[in-house]
Amino acid sequence: MPQPVFRFAPSPNGRLHLGHAYSALLNEKMARGQNGRLLLRIEDTDLSRCRPEFVDGIFEDLRWLGINWEEPVRIQSQHFADYEAALNTLWDEGHVYPCFCSRKVAARDALREKDPDGQPLYGGTCRAMPKQEAAYRIQYGEQHGWRLKTNGTSAHHWGDVTIAKPKTGSWYHIAVVVDDALQGITHVVRGKDLEAATNIHLLLQKLLGLPLPAYHHHKLIADDAGQKLSKSLKSKSLAALREEGVTPGEVLKALGFA
Ligand code: GLU
Repeated sequence: MPQPVFRFAPSPNGRLHLGHAYSALLNEKMARGQNGRLLLRIEDTDLSRCRPEFVDGIFEDLRWLGINWEEPVRIQSQHFADYEAALNTLWDEGHVYPCFCSRKVAARDALREKDPDGQPLYGGTCRAMPKQEAAYRIQYGEQHGWRLKTNGTSAHHWGDVTIAKPKTGSWYHIAVVVDDALQGITHVVRGKDLEAATNIHLLLQKLLGLPLPAYHHHKLIADDAGQKLSKSLKSKSLAALREEGVTPGEVLKALGFA
């Protein structure tokens, strides 16, 4: 059996909190337990929300927790070309289409059915647009997102979900599957908040011919564990806890890793 490869893949859009610590520590523990590797990936494609100082914060917090990861760290904002290439493949093969709908138009044409996040499903307004017209509108700089055709697939309850918005750098669904494959990730261990999105990832992996990692979605613990440390800790950042004199040992203990 090949050596298992785990990853922790935070987005640097704020300081890490106890929920991140749990996820990172669980990945580390599982990797160690299976004689596997642990990689770190910085998911910073969304340039409007991510900041370099939060990247430094991630390194600092993980080091403080005593977590070791392999170098080099993959920084997604340095690899937009990889995600664009995957998107182009999907477009060439007819699995995605650009959507030019404003929020208002999308809301007007939405279906009554809701997706797992509680948002109404897209009504398909741009789905049948001739490719030539779509390409022309993109070329002339019209704002657009990219939607995945999910009808008849295991991701159908998402409707034609938006999988990329190049303008804002929202590439999450594409970037996560491209990078998991590129980095040879065998085990994706992440929070339950991403469990519903896994159907989108499985579909993208199938369409792009990528290997399927094993998925484990862990409980979300930020609040409970915070309360064990102290009532006021709820969603305090690890940096704030550190400043208050909380030790890494106390964090590990509260999260059940001691
Ligand atoms: N970057 C995502 C987040 O911070 C996690 C992605 C993943 O683990 O698949 O929520």
